[in-house]
Amino acid sequence: MNIRKIRKDFPILNQKVNGKRLIYVDNSATSQKPKVVINAINDYYSKYNSNVHRGIHTLAQKATTQYEQVRSKVAKFVNCEKEEVVFTKGTTNSMNIIAFGLIDEIKSGDEIVLSVSEHHANLVCWQEVAKRCKAKLRFIGLNKNFELDLEQAKKIINKKTKIVSVSHISNVIGTVNSIDKINKLAKKYKAITVFDVAQSMLHKKIDFKKLDADFICFSGHKMLAPMGIGCLIGKYNSLEKLKPLEYGGDMIYDVQLETSTYTKVPQKLESGTPNVCAVIGLGVAIDYINKIGINNIEKYEKDLIKYFLERIKEVNNLTLYGKKTVTNRVSVFSFNIKGIHSHDISQ
Ligand code: PMP
Repeated sequence: MNIRKIRKDFPILNQKVNGKRLIYVDNSATSQKPKVVINAINDYYSKYNSNVHRGIHTLAQKATTQYEQVRSKVAKFVNCEKEEVVFTKGTTNSMNIIAFGLIDEIKSGDEIVLSVSEHHANLVCWQEVAKRCKAKLRFIGLNKNFELDLEQAKKIINKKTKIVSVSHISNVIGTVNSIDKINKLAKKYKAITVFDVAQSMLHKKIDFKKLDADFICFSGHKMLAPMGIGCLIGKYNSLEKLKPLEYGGDMIYDVQLETSTYTKVPQKLESGTPNVCAVIGLGVAIDYINKIGINNIEKYEKDLIKYFLERIKEVNNLTLYGKKTVTNRVSVFSFNIKGIHSHDISQ
């Protein structure tokens, strides 16, 4: 992998910040955008900005075709059907669509299983849904390897379990969790499974069909695409069970003054004008990732992890929270240096 050449693809990196060449390591919060993505946004607004699914003029046709082509591209990228891809604003939005979409399915006494290391996006919406449905939240802890404790999960997941929703990769300690095993456990009790793959898309190949879960969700901005676009991927039948969170244009089949009927998923879950230019940017970001190759990215990242783990040994009083080996982890690191405030270290 020619990292110098790749760096040149990212205009933002070609500058000095505080007098130093910019090395950006906050990719887990949001990734930078390659020039091809920035150009695609510019191209859309300069040449064919138009609403989708509404007009039959040339620009509207082009925008609609490009928008729907990205749906196919996403489907190929994560191995699912085109109809199983819902465009959302991001992971948080996707999680809320799932959690509130299932509100009629969750009954008093049902259990919703999460883990102790979830992002707020996969915690707070379930807290709210559990409160409204009188369901109980249960949490899988971490074992001494900082992985989800599968032995505990075997005890927690049982016939009362309605939902299991956990992240594939922790945004705090970078652990890659065995979501295939969690999925199998949950499916023994016919629980609905949701996996937050927000931290995975730029690091690991995600195969939705092979995983056999009900839902996964991710954000475009963490995978080189613009902000304001994400995906909710769901098995067709599972998506059909979701009650829409929003109602309005583009999700209706027939409208009367007193009542309306809705179209099928994925459109049923995409009401209103979507973020067309961000969708187009997402498509270009996927092309860019494919060109480099996710396996090459993974290999390069492993080298960086090894380097980091080796070099931090030189830092006195440093405690690393998380795996100290290269297996089942990505390059998200949390650490503390005794006696120095984290803000000072960060600065
Ligand atoms: N889940 C994980 C694991 C994340 O890292 C993040 C973003 N830090 C989110 C969910 C939320 O993503 P967004 O803010 O794009 O909705």
